[in-house]
Amino acid sequence: MAEQLSITERDNTYVAHTYGRFPLEIVAGEGSVAFDSTGKRYIDLGTGIAVNAFGYADPIWTKAVTDQLGKVQHTSNLYYTEPCSRLAELLCQRTGMKRVFFGNSGAEANECAIKVARKYGAKKGASTIITLVNSFHGRTLTTLSATGQDHYHELFQPLTPGFIHVPANDIAALETAITQPDVAGFLMECVQGEGGVLPINPEFAQAAEALCKENDVVFMVDEVQTGNGRSGHLYAYQGLGLHPDVVSTAKGLGAGLPIGACLMSEKVADVLQPGDHGSTFGGNPVCCAGAISVIERLTEDFLAQVRAKADFARVYLEAAPGVQEVSGMGLMLGVLPQRPAAEVVRDCMEKGVLCLTAKNKVRLLPALNIPDEQLKEALDILISCL
Ligand SMILES: *Cc1c(COP(=O)(O)O)cnc(C)c1O
Repeated sequence: MAEQLSITERDNTYVAHTYGRFPLEIVAGEGSVAFDSTGKRYIDLGTGIAVNAFGYADPIWTKAVTDQLGKVQHTSNLYYTEPCSRLAELLCQRTGMKRVFFGNSGAEANECAIKVARKYGAKKGASTIITLVNSFHGRTLTTLSATGQDHYHELFQPLTPGFIHVPANDIAALETAITQPDVAGFLMECVQGEGGVLPINPEFAQAAEALCKENDVVFMVDEVQTGNGRSGHLYAYQGLGLHPDVVSTAKGLGAGLPIGACLMSEKVADVLQPGDHGSTFGGNPVCCAGAISVIERLTEDFLAQVRAKADFARVYLEAAPGVQEVSGMGLMLGVLPQRPAAEVVRDCMEKGVLCLTAKNKVRLLPALNIPDEQLKEALDILISCL
């Protein structure tokens, strides 16, 4: 009989070595609890990097997805489907945006945003996109070029030209850059997630919006991680009182299935015309059916509960020994420990809590509906590992 490889052995043999995985095989989950292949229980404060907005095997999301799965799983964008049209309508109604392009990931949502800005800018001969130092916008070559972190760039030259990076929260630097005639767009995260859970300074965000308007530059907000309730608002820019021209989002929108969306305001709603952009899987009816169920649940009442959980977690962590600083917005929290963050995360896993790192921080992205007692249980374990 052929020797049976473990999940880990088979993965290490056959899957490309692009990830530094934890030694953990997740085989089942329910809500905010995951189980590994030995039956050990974990409280999950990472949610697959802010994707499983309602945890594992959520009954409402699962029903929305499986109901659609039994009808039509895919049509291509040559035809109309109910879930795609309904999700776009919902997103526009909840944000005031005018049109939505659907792709399959955060990077693709940003690719669309960048194409909108480039095509909008073309009429005045502008193509440069400004992003922030320490930002993260994705792994495709163009979104990598948008990402303001040199260490991601080194091995993949030449990158897509036409991106410049200015320091976050430096209004003067942005003003100098944005007043150049070749600037088409400005793209920023409201909280730099991969960059270390660093919220943007609200005055800077307001000034950036004003500078974009004054210079007819497309103002784009990357809500791939901050969006869909994560920040305690439907979208973080709404909490900051901003009015972006373009919003990209993904992660929690899919709640576990791949979907990305690029929301376009009145100003740019008709920039993309037939033939300008596309995606075979984009707007997939099963992914959209799940996403509709996500957006429908993110009511004002629910978002108030997210903010209450976030306030509890922040206050609890700030009072804990070993915590130097807590950063973030809503249920996107960065904890600066005295020990190396990677060691804290490893010890947490040992004790049954899954969390992430972001630079020198421990990053927490719990399910938006994590029960209060599970949140407290997990934070107590985290604190014991600090
Ligand atoms: C995760 C992330 C992306 C990339 O999303 P993918 O789905 O991995 O392509 C882009 N921007 C931000 C802010 C992210 O957090």
